[in-house]
Amino acid sequence: MTVPHPFSPEGRAHALEEMARTRLDVLVVGGGITGAGIARDAALRGWRVGLVEKEDFGSGTSSRSSKIIHGGVRYLEYGQFLLVRESARERRVLRHIAPHLVHPIPFLYPIFGGDRFWMIRVGMALFDRMASATPAERSRTLDPALVRERLPGLRDPLRGGVLYMEYITDDARFTTENALSAALHGARVANHARAQLLVSRGQVVGAEVTDALTGRTRAVHARVVVNATGPWAAHTLAAADLSPARPLVLSKGIHLLLDASALPIRGACFLKASGGRRGLAMRRMDHVYVGTSDEEYGGPLDAPRTTRAEVEELLSMVQDCFPSAGLRIEHVRATWAGIRTLVLQRGKTTRDTSRADAVWSDTPGLVTIAGGKLTTYRPMARRTLRAVARQLGEDPPGPDRTAEVILPGGELMGRDPEGYRKTRARALATRGVGPEAVARLTWLYGRQLDDLLALADRDPAWLELLHPDVPALRGEALLAAEREMASTLIDFMDRRSALLLFGPGQGETAAPAAAEVLGDVLGWSAERRAGELAAYRAYAAEHRVPAPPP
Ligand SMILES: Cc1cc2nc3c(=O)[nH]c(=O)nc-3n(C[C@H](O)[C@H](O)[C@H](O)COP(=O)(O)OP(=O)(O)OC[C@H]3O[C@@H](n4cnc5c(N)ncnc54)[C@H](O)[C@@H]3O)c2cc1C
Repeated sequence: MTVPHPFSPEGRAHALEEMARTRLDVLVVGGGITGAGIARDAALRGWRVGLVEKEDFGSGTSSRSSKIIHGGVRYLEYGQFLLVRESARERRVLRHIAPHLVHPIPFLYPIFGGDRFWMIRVGMALFDRMASATPAERSRTLDPALVRERLPGLRDPLRGGVLYMEYITDDARFTTENALSAALHGARVANHARAQLLVSRGQVVGAEVTDALTGRTRAVHARVVVNATGPWAAHTLAAADLSPARPLVLSKGIHLLLDASALPIRGACFLKASGGRRGLAMRRMDHVYVGTSDEEYGGPLDAPRTTRAEVEELLSMVQDCFPSAGLRIEHVRATWAGIRTLVLQRGKTTRDTSRADAVWSDTPGLVTIAGGKLTTYRPMARRTLRAVARQLGEDPPGPDRTAEVILPGGELMGRDPEGYRKTRARALATRGVGPEAVARLTWLYGRQLDDLLALADRDPAWLELLHPDVPALRGEALLAAEREMASTLIDFMDRRSALLLFGPGQGETAAPAAAEVLGDVLGWSAERRAGELAAYRAYAAEHRVPAPPP
């Protein structure tokens, strides 16, 4: 019997069956970056691993971040040196294992009258040392004219700035590629599979896993279960009558997407309004996104959305930073909201609370991890697996290989990612793919570009656009369904292709063609195709600017 690709529809069904058939060493619940990273690390060490995600990989906070692989310069202010050091060093590892998805971006720290320039300069020099920065990454001081060249229209009184290097990613694809890497190294992985912890005589022994696509529930047994459900961590425990050993607090952060023509900045920057409010702005191709608020959150965990008041407040902060840009609410193309899980520090606001993760295991058979960052997911996985090993009473079969094994999309890039991108861009252009689509594809994908070219060898129609207005190809939808476990139209439009947040008009005009391609692979009826389309349209509307209250 041939084994199906682990992220094909058959591979997903096979994984669910296999999970129920064998007792796993580790069952990871939650397919955000934390759970995907833990599953990958555990599989690479040789443990028998399962990973289940109730919706889609990255559908929680891990597709709603600021999408920066960053050193956390800001945390120096709070004296969190260990976190800064860990984050700063991780950047190089992540660039190595994901050269296709971790793009360098110059980051500018503008300095205004009243700021302590010398302190920021000293802080940045310290950061360079902690990060073991290469000459290209090292910080340098810019005069106000050079700052304004990069950030036109920035407010006064500007005294200069410090420029250094950070990295920008697509968080949802990054998460999915970690889950795929886990599967390619032996983990059984399924999305749209909700887990409910199974407790027997005070010990967690596995989980009941319900496949949302078929409605079938199976018992999955594991020697240790890892609760990596992020904002849902306390909820996952409460559903099994357990409670978190560490008090948690949630905070909500939002982002707004603008056309770069409305705010034509180069690279990324910290924002500081005249009243002291802070944020950041990031350029991603023809877009700029700005964020983020940071407010304690007690609302629903599923589908957090921006409110009109939050959008207006964030926009007014950006307007204050760039008074001559003439930014209006009509310039906002998309919005997103994410929830942070923080370990409560009494007397501190959520903004000032440490971003460090916490791992605990006070119930036999269960390890919980909460908090942390996208950037530090690898060391977080290492700490979690240490607790798993303690529960199992044995060392992992093999060493940590997560810094060496390249993520699937980066495999063909070798030491010359730029050279790889250029040759694939030429090959796509030669076959008639337009420049806008080529730019988007080479930003988002690595070896998938070869897969697209191979599809075109079979049938050139796979390189046609899903819609003339949207620079995305029919072949992307095919690959997403066949090899990336896209099981719904939202999976593809939001988390595989990034069209929801970064496509023109949320990529809505491309959605019908995408639904056809997905539906053919996944065997959808005409009714199901219509339902998927309606669900996507409603979802897209929730990611635009909310209407003002009547
Ligand atoms: C506004 C904002 C901006 C940020 N920006 C950055 C940044 O730029 N850089 C950075 O390094 N970090 C950033 N972070 C932090 C980073 O995004 C988070 O630390 C990270 O995404 C959390 O991942 P997670 O896997 O723990 O949680 P999640 O991504 O939320 O994953 C948890 C998953 O568990 C699933 N789940 C829940 N219950 C169940 C169940 N019963 N069964 C199965 N699955 C279940 C959920 O569906 C969800 O997908 C940001 C955070 C926020 C909020």
